[in-house]
Amino acid sequence: LSEKTTVKPKPRFVRVNTLKTTTGSVIEVLSKMHKVDKDDMVPDMLVLPPGTDMHKHPLVTDGKGKASCMVAAALSPKPGWKVIDACAAPGNKTVHLAALMNGEGSIIACELNKERAKTLQHTVRRSGANNIETVIGDFLNIDTNDPSYAEVRAILLDPSCSGSGISTERLDHLLPSYSIDDQDDAGSSARIRKLSAFQRKALSHALSFPSVERLVYSTCSIHQAENEDVVSSVLPLASSLGFELATPFPQWMRRGLPVFDGAQHLLRTDPEDDLEGFFIALFVRKAAAADALE
Ligand code: SAM
Repeated sequence: LSEKTTVKPKPRFVRVNTLKTTTGSVIEVLSKMHKVDKDDMVPDMLVLPPGTDMHKHPLVTDGKGKASCMVAAALSPKPGWKVIDACAAPGNKTVHLAALMNGEGSIIACELNKERAKTLQHTVRRSGANNIETVIGDFLNIDTNDPSYAEVRAILLDPSCSGSGISTERLDHLLPSYSIDDQDDAGSSARIRKLSAFQRKALSHALSFPSVERLVYSTCSIHQAENEDVVSSVLPLASSLGFELATPFPQWMRRGLPVFDGAQHLLRTDPEDDLEGFFIALFVRKAAAADALE
């Protein structure tokens, strides 16, 4: 006898590139053929019925899911800000940031790998954004005291990770640089330790930019070693610089693993229930939080 499990059908999520069109006009086109709702959390994200095939639709150029779109929305940079996307290729979150900023202000998109930087540049060109500067190089080598970065107010750090939250099928398709072996990894291998060490370094570096008010750290990993452990390891530094953890999307139920006091601020999505396993931490500088209330 085989036991049948019922898998609840998942809706299709589509993010509108507001640099090229408006959400209203996309709803008008799509609602001729489908039931279309607006997502209640991510701006300009539409929710279509399960099974809606959008891949060949002329309006669709990007097949990312809802969870990955929650990252830039959690950072929520204001139009006019100067923002760094620290580990940017292939650039999906970079162009989402540009849309959230209405194309106003500037984004520095940094990418270490030359080949992946070409994909990033292609994504940027295709998006219609004209306020993104790509920098090919190591984010860790950007001098935080360089006057050209003195006014950076937000950083999105989505560093290399094991990709363990994404199905192997999608990983192969989307991110050829990830190793499929990582899928069987319980989070304790030498590779995960190496990734985690880099992630800590990159997060500490990002926290050290003098004018940063908002900083998002994200991964598409399910491993505690790349998520909660990385965040908890930088908390003393973050606190000495005036940062505290804030709660992105407070209405989202799945939060960080309860391994330290404050992990309830973190956000996780589940590879099964939410299609992708993402992790988001949002740091906000206290003075900036107080200013926002004034
Ligand atoms: N945020 C991207 C998106 O949504 O399209 C995905 C980023 S991917 C998870 C991580 C990227 O960081 C890879 O392209 C990798 O080459 C790049 N990277 C790794 N180490 C880096 C470093 N030290 N400086 C800049 N980029 C780096």
